[in-house]
Amino acid sequence: MDIVILLGAPGSGKGTVAAHLSAKDATIAHLSTGDLLRGAVKAGTPAGLEAKGYMEAGELVPDTLIARLVGDYLESNGQLKTVLLDGFPRNVAQADILADLLKRMGHTLRCALMLEVSDATVTARISGRRVCPACGAVFNVNMLPPRQEGICDACGAQLITRRDDLPETVAHRLEVYREQTFPLIAYYRERDLLRTIDGEHGDVDVKCAHVLGAIR
Ligand code: AMP
Repeated sequence: MDIVILLGAPGSGKGTVAAHLSAKDATIAHLSTGDLLRGAVKAGTPAGLEAKGYMEAGELVPDTLIARLVGDYLESNGQLKTVLLDGFPRNVAQADILADLLKRMGHTLRCALMLEVSDATVTARISGRRVCPACGAVFNVNMLPPRQEGICDACGAQLITRRDDLPETVAHRLEVYREQTFPLIAYYRERDLLRTIDGEHGDVDVKCAHVLGAIR
């Protein structure tokens, strides 16, 4: 298995790009740790109960919890060819945990791909984000509006704003990103694994082409 880490601020488009690539190419899987955690919270599992408070406050959940979830996923999906990691690792301790996991399982870290986006764009994207609580589809009132306002194109459910996308929590999430996740850029650059692409311009197909260009 080849692992590609998607790096970038919340709202940089990691999830959108990964979802498009995995929908188009059956050999590419998308692991979003945020989605994994939201699923666990919704299902009320022990991991979900532990994670809920941290997530609502815009804090990172404990490294041990997220490491266990990612380890379980990789363990039970060993047949996958390429996995795009979206939202993990989120700090240097998690990057070390991932390196150990991959070594133990015999998987390869292909690269860490940074989607570069300005702060202004990130804020606009997050504040406009609406998600479908039923099927997980993601829209944006400014950039990718649903056909009918407030209604999911895919399944017809009422769209919602994620609790951690509310303005006060967004500011804190960006702070956490700058303090904890940003150092990963230097971490992967030192290991000659960092690639960067423009996450600001062009539509999702253009960005997917950039990603494929960087990982193939
Ligand atoms: P995301 O959808 O990636 O923005 O993640 C939403 C929330 O899930 C984050 O604000 C964290 O509370 C939690 N989360 C997701 N991935 C991680 C991770 N790798 N480490 C710690 N917390 C995480």
